[in-house]
Amino acid sequence: MTLFIKAKFSKLGALVALALSSACIPAIANDLPEHQTSNPWYSDAQSQLMQKLNTNNNFKAKNVILFVGDGMGISTLTAARILQGQQNNMLGEENNLSFEVFPHSALVKTYNVDAQTPDSAGTMTAMVAGLKTDVGVIGVDEDIERGDCSTLQGNEVTTALELAEIKGMSTGIISTARITHATPAATYAKSPDRNWEDVSDMPEDAVTAGCTDIADQLINFERNLESRFTGVDVDGIEVAFGGGRRHFLPRDEAFNSPDAASSTEGDRTDGRDLTAEWQEKYPQGAYIFDAAGFDSVDAASTERVFGLFNESHMQYEADRENDIAGEPSLTQLTEKAIDILDNNNKGFFLMVESGRIDHGHHAGSAYNALTDTIEFSNAVQKAMDMTNDEDTLILVTADHGHVFTIAGYPKRGNPILGKVVGVNSEDAATDANGLPYTTLGYTNGRGMMDLGSETNADVAYGMDINAGRIDLTLVDTNASGFHQEALVPLTSETHSGEDISLHASGPGAQLVQGTVEQNMVFHVIDQALNLTGSN
Ligand SMILES: [Zn+2]
Repeated sequence: MTLFIKAKFSKLGALVALALSSACIPAIANDLPEHQTSNPWYSDAQSQLMQKLNTNNNFKAKNVILFVGDGMGISTLTAARILQGQQNNMLGEENNLSFEVFPHSALVKTYNVDAQTPDSAGTMTAMVAGLKTDVGVIGVDEDIERGDCSTLQGNEVTTALELAEIKGMSTGIISTARITHATPAATYAKSPDRNWEDVSDMPEDAVTAGCTDIADQLINFERNLESRFTGVDVDGIEVAFGGGRRHFLPRDEAFNSPDAASSTEGDRTDGRDLTAEWQEKYPQGAYIFDAAGFDSVDAASTERVFGLFNESHMQYEADRENDIAGEPSLTQLTEKAIDILDNNNKGFFLMVESGRIDHGHHAGSAYNALTDTIEFSNAVQKAMDMTNDEDTLILVTADHGHVFTIAGYPKRGNPILGKVVGVNSEDAATDANGLPYTTLGYTNGRGMMDLGSETNADVAYGMDINAGRIDLTLVDTNASGFHQEALVPLTSETHSGEDISLHASGPGAQLVQGTVEQNMVFHVIDQALNLTGSN
């Protein structure tokens, strides 16, 4: 009936309506054969449409959670949903990642102001500050000169996380990469170069000119924010979870954490221990660095927590159990963060990054990229379970894609990590030279690796580049240590310039539609939380 009423408002619909009324035949839907309307493809799509018609029209949210799958392009979503489905004994293609059932989505143009294919610094600045900027710079506009400290002043931009702090909301950042890495850094730091993670990464003249490293800016977030706005009094970021301890500790083995991987864990050349400085600033806060410390945090009574779980990036999800002192999963980090942040009745803003989807791809390992994507989907599911879609806007997106393809004509249910086997066939399809090939592959990168049961993709960086076609006849491409073939030999597989997706649920999600510039993400958050007071 709904279809009929809507049809009346189009020219074609008017003709249909006229024909129907004159002939007195039943409504259109009743004319469809039963085998069509009862077909699950048909009925599932129709019930999804009905759900959309019943969606409420509340545009204001109390809380916003921004999930960023770093490098999680659309082909990554497709392959990860198939892999997850196949792990659950389904054919796979019909499976959905948790956020793929969100009612609203959009395509997102990811380019930076000066780059056709972007990086995470420019893209995340766009998402959290509302404007595009140059590649490689953090929390600044395009008037910056990358790497030039003297161009910083006057070009800093304010982010959604900072505005949420100013509004009295609780704030949190989570990343499985180093907490000073581009994506998390863009929420709190202003830096002419994403690589200035600690003082030892900066040129001498930048230090002399007064620029500060990204780790320092995380520790001094509260002071820095208050200095940029007169009369503003904030209480600082409540939750920060990630890797990257080396940027917070002095280059002195006496400061090694109990589970340090290197002989000297810290990188800082200024002798400062920023973890100790943080604890002095926040004596009520908990600084933690391993699974036991994480488990000991009582979310109900903890007002502030700072967790650095690895010297560098946290482990790939598939490799997590090999960590020296144990690491929480992204799902566990998300759960604990929400439990702490939702103690504030003014609401919260939380950013959750799965940083290592990107790293799996760069190393040429679909297995690591996809298993981290599945864990990212689990973390989103946890957030959905813990919040109410009447008051919490959840946005799930990527910063950019990768040159990762799903190729050939594999039959339905063919193992996504496997070799292509065609419809009605039992044998692997072959290329023009008679060699089998995989469904998944990369346009560039280090090329094929047969590393058996290895679960750490980064091992590939210690191997020779092996691009081009390889005879895979005797290779188990379903093994965790298999790295897909690549056409163009490069030391590291690259990002792609194609659009990525944005998925939204909750108040304000209705605005996520069409094909948008990436900086639109900030404006959706601003609208939902009224951060700038402009709506
Ligand atoms: Zn990357």
